[in-house]
Amino acid sequence: MARNDYKNDMGEGDYRGDYGDKDGDDRKRGGGVYRKKICRFCADSEFHLDYKDVKVMQSFLSEHGKIVPRRISGNCAFHQRELTTQVKRARNLALVGYISAGY
Ligand SMILES: [Zn+2]
Repeated sequence: MARNDYKNDMGEGDYRGDYGDKDGDDRKRGGGVYRKKICRFCADSEFHLDYKDVKVMQSFLSEHGKIVPRRISGNCAFHQRELTTQVKRARNLALVGYISAGY
């Protein structure tokens, strides 16, 4: 007769959890990654600090034209002071800007 003896082909309970896999929260923040900083001028004797060397100057300037602090650039106190003097000199000659218009 009309017995409902159909096979349950959908069975097995194979539910796929399709989401919840990528929550994009893998980035570790402030994980105490210690990068050893060496004063570039001390390390490389050919790395001269000169106000005429705009490339060198700009490598120690932020994108806004500010001088990168010592704790970030890794310069020693002596060279950081020297750098400040040179950058200010370069600014005076308009080799390096006071502020950057953004590029
Ligand atoms: Zn140094």
